[in-house]
Amino acid sequence: MRLSVFFMPTLKETPAEAQIASHRLMLRAGMVRQSAAGIYSWLPLGWKVLRKIQQIVREEQDAAGAQEVLMPTIQSADIWRESGRYDAYGKEMLRITDRHDREMLYGPTNEELITQLFRDNVKSYRELPKILYHIQWKFRDEVRPRFGVMRGREFLMKDSYSFDVDYEGAKRSYEVMFNAYLKTFKRMGLTAIPMQADPGAIGGNLSHEFHILAETGESGVFYDIAYDELAAKGEIDLDALSRLYAVTDEKHDPNAPNVPPPERLKVARGIEVGHIFYFGTKYSKAMNAVVAGPDGNPLVVEMGSYGIGVSRLVGAIVEAFHDDRGIKWPESVAPFKVGLINLKVGDSACDTVCEDIYRRLSAAGVEILYDDRDERAGVKFADMDLIGLPWQLVAGPKGLAAGVVELKSRHTGEKQELSVESALARLCG
Ligand code: ATP
Ligand code: MG
Repeated sequence: MRLSVFFMPTLKETPAEAQIASHRLMLRAGMVRQSAAGIYSWLPLGWKVLRKIQQIVREEQDAAGAQEVLMPTIQSADIWRESGRYDAYGKEMLRITDRHDREMLYGPTNEELITQLFRDNVKSYRELPKILYHIQWKFRDEVRPRFGVMRGREFLMKDSYSFDVDYEGAKRSYEVMFNAYLKTFKRMGLTAIPMQADPGAIGGNLSHEFHILAETGESGVFYDIAYDELAAKGEIDLDALSRLYAVTDEKHDPNAPNVPPPERLKVARGIEVGHIFYFGTKYSKAMNAVVAGPDGNPLVVEMGSYGIGVSRLVGAIVEAFHDDRGIKWPESVAPFKVGLINLKVGDSACDTVCEDIYRRLSAAGVEILYDDRDERAGVKFADMDLIGLPWQLVAGPKGLAAGVVELKSRHTGEKQELSVESALARLCG
Protein backbone atom coordinates (compact mmCIF):
# COMPACT_ATOMS: atom_id res chain seq x y z
CA MET A 1 0.00 0.00 0.00
CA ARG A 2 1.19 3.49 -0.85
CA LEU A 3 0.75 6.01 1.91
CA SER A 4 -0.02 8.70 -0.69
CA VAL A 5 -3.32 6.93 -1.42
CA PHE A 6 -3.99 5.10 1.87
CA PHE A 7 -6.96 6.37 3.91
CA MET A 8 -5.18 7.00 7.19
CA PRO A 9 -6.28 10.32 8.69
CA THR A 10 -3.64 10.82 11.39
CA LEU A 11 -3.98 13.58 13.97
CA LYS A 12 -1.18 15.75 15.29
CA GLU A 13 -3.08 16.99 18.30
CA THR A 14 -4.06 14.74 21.17
CA PRO A 15 -7.84 14.39 21.10
CA ALA A 16 -9.26 15.92 24.27
CA GLU A 17 -11.82 13.16 24.87
CA ALA A 18 -9.22 10.38 25.10
CA GLN A 19 -8.14 9.59 28.65
CA ILE A 20 -5.85 6.63 28.08
CA ALA A 21 -2.96 5.90 25.75
CA SER A 22 -4.67 3.30 23.57
CA HIS A 23 -7.66 5.54 22.89
CA ARG A 24 -5.40 8.50 22.10
CA LEU A 25 -3.11 6.51 19.86
CA MET A 26 -5.89 4.71 17.99
CA LEU A 27 -7.49 8.07 17.17
CA ARG A 28 -4.20 9.74 16.33
CA ALA A 29 -3.09 6.87 14.08
CA GLY A 30 -6.37 7.05 12.16
CA MET A 31 -7.47 3.55 13.15
CA VAL A 32 -10.98 4.37 14.35
CA ARG A 33 -13.45 7.22 14.51
CA GLN A 34 -16.32 7.54 16.93
CA SER A 35 -19.74 7.93 15.30
CA ALA A 36 -21.85 8.03 18.47
CA ALA A 37 -21.04 7.36 22.13
CA GLY A 38 -19.29 3.99 22.29
CA ILE A 39 -19.88 3.28 18.59
CA TYR A 40 -16.96 3.32 16.16
CA SER A 41 -16.11 3.10 12.49
CA TRP A 42 -12.99 1.09 11.80
CA LEU A 43 -10.74 2.73 9.22
CA PRO A 44 -8.35 0.65 7.07
CA LEU A 45 -5.44 0.60 9.53
CA GLY A 46 -7.63 -0.39 12.49
CA TRP A 47 -9.71 -2.81 10.49
CA LYS A 48 -6.57 -4.65 9.36
CA VAL A 49 -5.54 -5.16 13.00
CA LEU A 50 -9.04 -6.21 14.01
CA ARG A 51 -9.05 -8.79 11.20
CA LYS A 52 -5.68 -10.20 12.27
CA ILE A 53 -6.87 -10.60 15.83
CA GLN A 54 -10.06 -12.26 14.58
CA GLN A 55 -8.01 -14.64 12.49
CA ILE A 56 -5.80 -15.72 15.40
CA VAL A 57 -8.89 -16.28 17.53
CA ARG A 58 -10.51 -18.25 14.69
CA GLU A 59 -7.46 -20.44 14.09
CA GLU A 60 -7.16 -21.34 17.76
CA GLN A 61 -10.89 -22.06 18.07
CA ASP A 62 -10.74 -24.28 14.99
CA ALA A 63 -7.62 -26.03 16.30
CA ALA A 64 -9.47 -26.73 19.56
CA GLY A 65 -12.28 -28.42 17.63
CA ALA A 66 -14.85 -25.63 17.81
CA GLN A 67 -16.92 -25.03 14.66
CA GLU A 68 -17.66 -21.58 13.31
CA VAL A 69 -21.20 -20.41 12.64
CA LEU A 70 -22.64 -16.93 12.23
CA MET A 71 -25.71 -15.98 14.18
CA PRO A 72 -27.58 -12.73 13.54
CA THR A 73 -27.14 -9.54 15.54
CA ILE A 74 -30.91 -9.02 15.83
CA GLN A 75 -32.80 -11.53 17.96
CA SER A 76 -36.40 -12.13 18.90
CA ALA A 77 -37.46 -11.25 22.44
CA ASP A 78 -39.38 -14.55 22.62
CA ILE A 79 -36.35 -16.74 23.27
CA TRP A 80 -35.21 -14.36 26.00
CA ARG A 81 -38.60 -14.72 27.63
CA GLU A 82 -38.12 -18.50 27.56
CA SER A 83 -34.82 -18.24 29.43
CA GLY A 84 -36.26 -15.64 31.80
CA ARG A 85 -33.59 -13.07 30.94
CA TYR A 86 -35.71 -10.61 28.95
CA ASP A 87 -36.75 -8.70 32.04
CA ALA A 88 -33.67 -9.54 34.07
CA TYR A 89 -31.21 -8.04 31.57
CA GLY A 90 -32.14 -4.44 32.23
CA LYS A 91 -31.15 -1.29 30.39
CA GLU A 92 -27.97 -2.67 28.83
CA MET A 93 -30.18 -4.41 26.29
CA LEU A 94 -31.17 -2.42 23.22
CA ARG A 95 -34.80 -3.27 22.60
CA ILE A 96 -36.29 -2.77 19.15
CA THR A 97 -39.84 -3.02 17.81
CA ASP A 98 -40.33 -4.01 14.17
CA ARG A 99 -43.14 -2.75 11.86
CA HIS A 100 -45.43 -5.55 13.01
CA ASP A 101 -44.92 -4.54 16.62
CA ARG A 102 -42.86 -7.62 17.30
CA GLU A 103 -40.31 -7.21 20.05
CA MET A 104 -36.75 -7.67 18.91
CA LEU A 105 -33.39 -6.81 20.39
CA TYR A 106 -29.78 -6.27 19.34
CA GLY A 107 -27.98 -9.23 20.87
CA PRO A 108 -25.77 -8.46 23.89
CA THR A 109 -24.78 -12.17 23.96
CA ASN A 110 -26.06 -15.40 22.40
CA GLU A 111 -26.84 -18.13 24.95
CA GLU A 112 -30.54 -18.12 24.05
CA LEU A 113 -30.04 -18.18 20.28
CA ILE A 114 -27.47 -20.97 20.36
CA THR A 115 -29.62 -23.01 22.74
CA GLN A 116 -32.54 -22.65 20.34
CA LEU A 117 -30.36 -23.68 17.39
CA PHE A 118 -29.11 -26.68 19.29
CA ARG A 119 -32.53 -27.72 20.55
CA ASP A 120 -34.05 -27.60 17.06
CA ASN A 121 -31.26 -29.50 15.34
CA VAL A 122 -29.52 -31.96 17.66
CA LYS A 123 -31.48 -35.02 18.70
CA SER A 124 -29.11 -37.64 20.08
CA TYR A 125 -26.32 -37.87 22.67
CA ARG A 126 -24.28 -39.47 19.86
CA GLU A 127 -23.85 -36.03 18.27
CA LEU A 128 -22.10 -34.69 21.38
CA PRO A 129 -19.78 -33.15 22.41
CA LYS A 130 -20.05 -30.01 20.29
CA ILE A 131 -18.53 -26.57 20.56
CA LEU A 132 -19.92 -23.87 18.29
CA TYR A 133 -18.68 -20.31 18.02
CA HIS A 134 -19.09 -17.11 16.10
CA ILE A 135 -17.41 -13.75 15.85
CA GLN A 136 -20.13 -11.14 15.76
CA TRP A 137 -20.98 -7.59 16.81
CA LYS A 138 -22.77 -7.17 20.09
CA PHE A 139 -24.57 -4.19 21.54
CA ARG A 140 -24.72 -3.32 25.22
CA ASP A 141 -25.99 0.05 26.27
CA GLU A 142 -23.20 0.51 28.81
CA VAL A 143 -23.83 3.21 31.44
CA ARG A 144 -20.37 4.66 30.85
CA PRO A 145 -18.89 3.80 27.48
CA ARG A 146 -15.26 4.92 27.70
CA PHE A 147 -11.65 4.30 26.82
CA GLY A 148 -12.47 4.04 23.12
CA VAL A 149 -13.02 0.49 21.88
CA MET A 150 -12.20 -0.95 25.31
CA ARG A 151 -15.66 -0.28 26.66
CA GLY A 152 -17.81 0.41 23.66
CA ARG A 153 -21.52 -0.03 23.26
CA GLU A 154 -21.14 -1.82 19.94
CA PHE A 155 -18.22 -4.25 20.08
CA LEU A 156 -16.93 -7.39 18.40
CA MET A 157 -16.93 -10.56 20.46
CA LYS A 158 -15.98 -14.15 19.85
CA ASP A 159 -18.42 -16.30 21.75
CA SER A 160 -18.34 -20.09 21.89
CA TYR A 161 -20.83 -22.47 23.43
CA SER A 162 -20.18 -26.07 24.46
CA PHE A 163 -22.72 -28.87 24.69
CA ASP A 164 -21.97 -32.09 26.57
CA VAL A 165 -23.87 -35.06 27.97
CA ASP A 166 -22.53 -34.78 31.52
CA TYR A 167 -20.40 -32.73 33.91
CA GLU A 168 -17.18 -34.63 33.09
CA GLY A 169 -17.64 -33.85 29.41
CA ALA A 170 -18.46 -30.22 30.14
CA LYS A 171 -15.33 -29.91 32.27
CA ARG A 172 -13.24 -31.33 29.41
CA SER A 173 -14.73 -28.79 26.99
CA TYR A 174 -13.97 -26.07 29.53
CA GLU A 175 -10.34 -27.20 29.76
CA VAL A 176 -9.99 -27.32 25.99
CA MET A 177 -11.25 -23.72 25.72
CA PHE A 178 -9.14 -22.64 28.68
CA ASN A 179 -5.95 -23.82 26.98
CA ALA A 180 -7.06 -22.43 23.60
CA TYR A 181 -7.39 -19.03 25.29
CA LEU A 182 -3.88 -19.13 26.70
CA LYS A 183 -2.52 -19.96 23.23
CA THR A 184 -4.65 -17.30 21.56
CA PHE A 185 -3.42 -14.48 23.81
CA LYS A 186 0.15 -15.70 23.66
CA ARG A 187 0.12 -15.50 19.86
CA MET A 188 -0.74 -11.81 20.25
CA GLY A 189 2.29 -11.32 22.50
CA LEU A 190 0.13 -11.08 25.61
CA THR A 191 0.33 -12.83 28.95
CA ALA A 192 -3.25 -13.29 30.07
CA ILE A 193 -3.76 -14.29 33.68
CA PRO A 194 -6.77 -16.50 34.38
CA MET A 195 -8.57 -15.17 37.43
CA GLN A 196 -11.13 -17.17 39.37
CA ALA A 197 -14.23 -15.27 38.48
CA ASP A 198 -17.57 -14.66 40.01
CA PRO A 199 -20.01 -16.19 37.56
CA GLY A 200 -22.47 -13.50 38.58
CA ALA A 201 -25.77 -13.41 36.73
CA ILE A 202 -24.96 -16.40 34.54
CA GLY A 203 -24.56 -18.85 37.46
CA GLY A 204 -22.45 -21.99 37.88
CA ASN A 205 -19.24 -22.85 39.65
CA LEU A 206 -16.44 -22.96 37.09
CA SER A 207 -15.47 -19.60 35.65
CA HIS A 208 -12.33 -17.67 34.77
CA GLU A 209 -11.71 -14.16 33.57
CA PHE A 210 -8.55 -13.63 31.53
CA HIS A 211 -6.82 -10.36 32.34
CA ILE A 212 -3.79 -8.74 30.85
CA LEU A 213 -1.82 -6.42 33.08
CA ALA A 214 -1.96 -2.71 32.32
CA GLU A 215 -1.85 0.33 34.58
CA THR A 216 -5.03 1.64 33.00
CA GLY A 217 -6.96 -1.62 33.50
CA GLU A 218 -10.45 -1.26 34.94
CA SER A 219 -10.04 -4.09 37.46
CA GLY A 220 -7.69 -4.50 40.38
CA VAL A 221 -6.05 -7.93 40.25
CA PHE A 222 -4.42 -9.94 43.03
CA TYR A 223 -2.46 -13.05 42.24
CA ASP A 224 0.14 -15.48 43.48
CA ILE A 225 3.42 -14.86 41.66
CA ALA A 226 3.68 -18.65 41.32
CA TYR A 227 1.39 -18.05 38.34
CA ASP A 228 4.19 -16.30 36.45
CA GLU A 229 6.37 -19.38 37.00
CA LEU A 230 3.60 -21.71 35.80
CA ALA A 231 2.87 -19.54 32.75
CA ALA A 232 6.51 -19.64 31.71
CA LYS A 233 6.14 -23.40 31.28
CA GLY A 234 3.48 -23.09 28.61
CA GLU A 235 0.48 -25.37 28.96
CA ILE A 236 -1.24 -24.96 32.29
CA ASP A 237 -2.87 -27.69 34.30
CA LEU A 238 -6.24 -26.46 35.46
CA ASP A 239 -6.07 -28.27 38.80
CA ALA A 240 -2.63 -26.86 39.64
CA LEU A 241 -3.93 -23.46 38.65
CA SER A 242 -7.10 -23.63 40.66
CA ARG A 243 -5.08 -23.98 43.87
CA LEU A 244 -3.38 -20.65 43.18
CA TYR A 245 -4.85 -17.43 44.41
CA ALA A 246 -5.83 -15.14 41.50
CA VAL A 247 -8.86 -12.89 41.77
CA THR A 248 -10.10 -9.44 40.80
CA ASP A 249 -10.86 -6.76 43.36
CA GLU A 250 -14.54 -7.61 43.87
CA LYS A 251 -13.56 -11.08 45.02
CA HIS A 252 -10.35 -10.28 46.88
CA ASP A 253 -10.45 -11.54 50.45
CA PRO A 254 -7.20 -10.95 52.36
CA ASN A 255 -8.23 -13.69 54.83
CA ALA A 256 -8.89 -16.42 52.25
CA PRO A 257 -6.94 -19.60 53.12
CA ASN A 258 -4.83 -19.64 49.94
CA VAL A 259 -3.82 -15.96 49.87
CA PRO A 260 -0.01 -15.97 49.53
CA PRO A 261 2.19 -13.92 51.88
CA PRO A 262 2.54 -10.25 50.84
CA GLU A 263 5.90 -10.76 49.14
CA ARG A 264 4.35 -13.38 46.86
CA LEU A 265 1.09 -11.54 46.21
CA LYS A 266 1.15 -9.43 43.07
CA VAL A 267 -1.22 -6.49 43.17
CA ALA A 268 -1.81 -4.86 39.80
CA ARG A 269 -4.45 -3.67 37.38
CA GLY A 270 -5.90 -5.72 34.57
CA ILE A 271 -7.95 -5.51 31.39
CA GLU A 272 -10.47 -8.32 30.98
CA VAL A 273 -9.99 -9.76 27.50
CA GLY A 274 -11.84 -13.05 27.95
CA HIS A 275 -14.34 -14.73 30.21
CA ILE A 276 -15.32 -18.40 30.33
CA PHE A 277 -18.11 -20.10 32.26
CA TYR A 278 -19.53 -23.49 32.92
CA PHE A 279 -23.21 -23.05 33.71
CA GLY A 280 -24.60 -26.57 33.58
CA THR A 281 -28.23 -26.85 32.55
CA LYS A 282 -29.33 -23.28 33.24
CA TYR A 283 -30.40 -22.57 29.63
CA SER A 284 -30.93 -26.11 28.41
CA LYS A 285 -33.43 -26.76 31.20
CA ALA A 286 -35.28 -23.47 30.78
CA MET A 287 -35.43 -23.84 27.00
CA ASN A 288 -35.86 -27.59 26.84
CA ALA A 289 -32.62 -28.45 25.03
CA VAL A 290 -32.71 -32.21 25.47
CA VAL A 291 -31.28 -35.09 23.45
CA ALA A 292 -32.07 -38.80 23.58
CA GLY A 293 -29.62 -40.40 26.03
CA PRO A 294 -28.00 -43.86 25.70
CA ASP A 295 -30.94 -45.46 27.52
CA GLY A 296 -33.45 -43.68 25.33
CA ASN A 297 -34.47 -41.29 28.09
CA PRO A 298 -34.30 -37.53 27.51
CA LEU A 299 -31.09 -35.95 28.70
CA VAL A 300 -30.74 -32.25 29.47
CA VAL A 301 -27.43 -31.08 28.00
CA GLU A 302 -24.63 -29.43 30.00
CA MET A 303 -23.42 -26.13 28.62
CA GLY A 304 -20.62 -23.61 28.90
CA SER A 305 -19.92 -20.27 27.23
CA TYR A 306 -16.63 -18.67 26.33
CA GLY A 307 -16.16 -15.06 25.30
CA ILE A 308 -13.24 -13.05 23.94
CA GLY A 309 -13.42 -9.29 23.53
CA VAL A 310 -12.01 -9.11 19.99
CA SER A 311 -12.37 -5.34 19.52
CA ARG A 312 -11.33 -4.67 23.14
CA LEU A 313 -8.13 -6.62 22.39
CA VAL A 314 -7.04 -3.99 19.86
CA GLY A 315 -7.02 -1.39 22.64
CA ALA A 316 -5.55 -3.81 25.16
CA ILE A 317 -2.64 -4.65 22.85
CA VAL A 318 -1.93 -0.94 22.36
CA GLU A 319 -1.99 -0.45 26.14
CA ALA A 320 0.55 -3.24 26.47
CA PHE A 321 2.78 -2.12 23.58
CA HIS A 322 3.42 1.58 23.14
CA ASP A 323 5.82 4.35 24.09
CA ASP A 324 5.50 8.12 24.07
CA ARG A 325 5.95 8.25 20.30
CA GLY A 326 3.28 5.72 19.41
CA ILE A 327 2.24 2.12 19.04
CA LYS A 328 4.63 -0.86 18.85
CA TRP A 329 2.64 -3.68 17.25
CA PRO A 330 3.61 -7.28 17.89
CA GLU A 331 4.30 -8.75 14.46
CA SER A 332 1.39 -11.22 14.62
CA VAL A 333 -1.24 -8.47 14.66
CA ALA A 334 0.60 -5.60 12.94
CA PRO A 335 -1.39 -3.93 10.13
CA PHE A 336 1.74 -4.09 7.94
CA LYS A 337 5.04 -5.74 8.71
CA VAL A 338 7.23 -3.06 7.12
CA GLY A 339 7.05 0.70 6.68
CA LEU A 340 9.26 1.95 3.87
CA ILE A 341 10.33 5.59 4.10
CA ASN A 342 11.54 7.37 0.99
CA LEU A 343 13.46 10.34 2.42
CA LYS A 344 13.59 12.27 -0.84
CA VAL A 345 10.70 11.71 -3.18
CA GLY A 346 11.67 13.04 -6.61
CA ASP A 347 15.31 12.01 -6.25
CA SER A 348 15.80 9.40 -8.94
CA ALA A 349 18.08 7.11 -6.89
CA CYS A 350 15.66 7.15 -3.93
CA ASP A 351 12.59 6.62 -6.11
CA THR A 352 14.15 3.77 -8.08
CA VAL A 353 15.37 1.87 -5.02
CA CYS A 354 12.13 2.37 -3.10
CA GLU A 355 9.95 1.30 -6.03
CA ASP A 356 12.12 -1.80 -6.39
CA ILE A 357 11.90 -2.65 -2.67
CA TYR A 358 8.15 -2.02 -2.67
CA ARG A 359 7.59 -4.25 -5.69
CA ARG A 360 9.79 -7.09 -4.45
CA LEU A 361 8.45 -7.19 -0.91
CA SER A 362 4.86 -7.05 -2.17
CA ALA A 363 5.61 -9.88 -4.61
CA ALA A 364 7.06 -11.92 -1.73
CA GLY A 365 3.81 -11.46 0.21
CA VAL A 366 5.34 -9.17 2.84
CA GLU A 367 2.81 -6.53 3.90
CA ILE A 368 4.41 -3.17 3.30
CA LEU A 369 3.29 0.42 3.65
CA TYR A 370 5.37 2.68 1.41
CA ASP A 371 5.61 6.32 2.50
CA ASP A 372 5.90 7.87 -0.95
CA ARG A 373 4.47 11.23 0.14
CA ASP A 374 6.28 14.43 -0.63
CA GLU A 375 6.69 15.31 3.05
CA ARG A 376 9.46 16.35 5.40
CA ALA A 377 11.56 13.52 6.87
CA GLY A 378 10.50 14.52 10.38
CA VAL A 379 6.83 14.07 9.53
CA LYS A 380 7.49 10.68 7.97
CA PHE A 381 9.47 9.43 10.97
CA ALA A 382 6.85 10.67 13.40
CA ASP A 383 3.97 9.07 11.50
CA MET A 384 5.81 5.78 11.16
CA ASP A 385 6.59 5.69 14.89
CA LEU A 386 2.97 6.62 15.65
CA ILE A 387 1.43 3.77 13.63
CA GLY A 388 3.97 1.34 15.07
CA LEU A 389 4.82 -1.08 12.24
CA PRO A 390 7.42 -3.58 13.55
CA TRP A 391 10.05 -2.71 10.91
CA GLN A 392 11.01 0.60 9.33
CA LEU A 393 13.15 0.66 6.23
CA VAL A 394 14.61 4.07 5.43
CA ALA A 395 16.14 5.01 2.09
CA GLY A 396 17.82 8.40 1.62
CA PRO A 397 20.29 9.93 -0.86
CA LYS A 398 23.28 9.76 1.52
CA GLY A 399 22.85 6.12 2.41
CA LEU A 400 22.15 5.06 -1.13
CA ALA A 401 25.33 6.78 -2.33
CA ALA A 402 27.13 4.46 0.08
CA GLY A 403 24.99 1.51 -1.03
CA VAL A 404 22.96 1.15 2.16
CA VAL A 405 19.47 1.55 3.60
CA GLU A 406 18.59 1.68 7.29
CA LEU A 407 16.51 -0.97 9.01
CA LYS A 408 14.98 -0.03 12.35
CA SER A 409 13.11 -2.21 14.80
CA ARG A 410 10.21 -0.28 16.31
CA HIS A 411 10.32 -2.56 19.36
CA THR A 412 13.94 -2.17 20.37
CA GLY A 413 14.73 1.04 18.50
CA GLU A 414 17.80 -0.73 17.16
CA LYS A 415 19.04 0.59 13.80
CA GLN A 416 21.21 -1.15 11.27
CA GLU A 417 22.70 -0.12 7.95
CA LEU A 418 22.44 -2.84 5.33
CA SER A 419 22.61 -3.32 1.61
CA VAL A 420 19.21 -3.44 -0.07
CA GLU A 421 19.71 -7.15 -0.75
CA SER A 422 20.40 -8.05 2.89
CA ALA A 423 17.53 -5.89 4.09
CA LEU A 424 15.17 -7.68 1.70
CA ALA A 425 16.48 -11.07 2.75
CA ARG A 426 15.95 -10.15 6.39
CA LEU A 427 12.39 -8.97 5.85
CA CYS A 428 11.38 -11.92 3.70
CA GLY A 429 12.71 -14.43 6.25
P1 ATP B 1 -16.99 -6.40 31.68
O1 ATP B 1 -16.88 -6.85 33.11
O2 ATP B 1 -15.71 -5.80 31.15
O3 ATP B 1 -18.22 -5.57 31.43
P2 ATP B 1 -18.47 -8.73 30.94
O4 ATP B 1 -18.30 -9.63 32.10
O5 ATP B 1 -19.71 -7.95 30.80
O6 ATP B 1 -17.20 -7.74 30.84
P3 ATP B 1 -18.73 -10.91 29.04
O7 ATP B 1 -20.20 -10.83 28.99
O8 ATP B 1 -18.11 -12.09 29.69
O9 ATP B 1 -18.15 -9.55 29.61
O10 ATP B 1 -18.16 -10.74 27.55
C1 ATP B 1 -16.99 -11.40 27.06
C2 ATP B 1 -15.88 -10.43 26.73
O11 ATP B 1 -16.35 -9.36 25.90
C3 ATP B 1 -15.31 -9.71 27.95
O12 ATP B 1 -14.33 -10.51 28.56
C4 ATP B 1 -14.71 -8.46 27.33
O13 ATP B 1 -13.39 -8.74 26.85
C5 ATP B 1 -15.61 -8.18 26.14
N1 ATP B 1 -16.52 -7.06 26.44
C6 ATP B 1 -17.55 -7.06 27.32
N2 ATP B 1 -18.17 -5.87 27.34
C7 ATP B 1 -17.50 -5.08 26.44
C8 ATP B 1 -17.66 -3.73 26.00
N3 ATP B 1 -18.62 -2.97 26.47
N4 ATP B 1 -16.80 -3.25 25.06
C9 ATP B 1 -15.82 -4.05 24.56
N5 ATP B 1 -15.63 -5.32 24.93
C10 ATP B 1 -16.46 -5.84 25.86
MG1 MG C 1 -20.22 -5.99 31.14
